[in-house]
Amino acid sequence: MKKRKIAILGSTGSIGTQTLDVVRQHRDLFEVELISANNNAELLAAQAREFDVNNVVICNEARYEAVCEALRDSDSKVWAGVDSLCSLVRGDGVDIVVGAMVGFSGLRPTLAALEAGKIVALANKETLVAAGALVTRTMREHGAVILPVDSEHSAIFQCLLGAQGNTVEKIHLTASGGPFRTWSRTQIAAAKAGDALKHPNWDMGAKVTIDSATMMNKGFEVIEARWLFDVAPKDINVVVHPESIIHSMVEFTDGAVIAQLGCPDMREPIGFALSFPARITVGNRKLDFAQLGSLSFEAPDLSRFPNLRLAFEAIERGGNAPCALNAANEVAVAAYLKGQIGFYDISRINEKCLAGLNFAANPSLEDIFETNAEVAKIADGCIN
Ligand code: MG
Repeated sequence: MKKRKIAILGSTGSIGTQTLDVVRQHRDLFEVELISANNNAELLAAQAREFDVNNVVICNEARYEAVCEALRDSDSKVWAGVDSLCSLVRGDGVDIVVGAMVGFSGLRPTLAALEAGKIVALANKETLVAAGALVTRTMREHGAVILPVDSEHSAIFQCLLGAQGNTVEKIHLTASGGPFRTWSRTQIAAAKAGDALKHPNWDMGAKVTIDSATMMNKGFEVIEARWLFDVAPKDINVVVHPESIIHSMVEFTDGAVIAQLGCPDMREPIGFALSFPARITVGNRKLDFAQLGSLSFEAPDLSRFPNLRLAFEAIERGGNAPCALNAANEVAVAAYLKGQIGFYDISRINEKCLAGLNFAANPSLEDIFETNAEVAKIADGCIN
């Protein structure tokens, strides 16, 4: 495999640091050309030194001086702001762009990478939720490629490698059920952010961990799968699988189901996206089936986890509805993390924002930004 030059957008977050851990194990295969972070100047500078990174971008311009100071006597070039990031990801020195930013903020740099025809290893699902039609159209128009990093979508992608051109009948998207899977509605209603942040299986960032507790994450993954694999939402079946060993499954016309399994560790889908089609070691645990004993499955409970229902409604409605759902959810989750609202206020705000949406059937990029800003304002109003 020829050495691949990587850009990591959001290098200080959970996916970013795990990506660097994979790179650390294979310095002969990968070179880090560009890293970016929103605020964490200290870690960003430390990463730039360890991986001898050429270009370092701090998105929050107020932290620019801190990064410059920390990298004063190094060879790394330091830049500030999302505009710098968008132009740097297009550069010839970048082969693969890892999209690991949180939320809607990942949209612009992802589109920039796709317009430049790059391979995008996409972890930032909100980009596809907010603007799936636009993002996939941009990908096709510029001959770019999106490789999924989300574990479920990496699993589906891997299952499809065995499809031999046969059409998919159904996708079975597995869900851990999150930390509140066995809690009653009353218990969940009183849950604090600290309870939600104790995810049983996966090591993830705060935003996606809360989304996992409300099952908004699974709802967003349905939308993500719809765009990545061009399947109708009705053909996507969510099944709760508490052990998180089967990462998802694909069903064919003859009833045959192909599944992808592994110990839950994000370095596995990250490694596969970076080295595709080759497979590399990533330092994860291997499955021991005898010790595992059994795997279990159950249907998701839409009454305790209304966000999952809202995601299906949004994608069925189409247009800018998923963008609105994402915008409302970002604001609501931030407020929940700060202790300003209760657990079920998140889905209540999401539902309200979806119902009051100024609908656009074929939103342009401008419409998407407008919807995002407008709905965020409405959601803010629900909190205060
Ligand atoms: Mg996932």
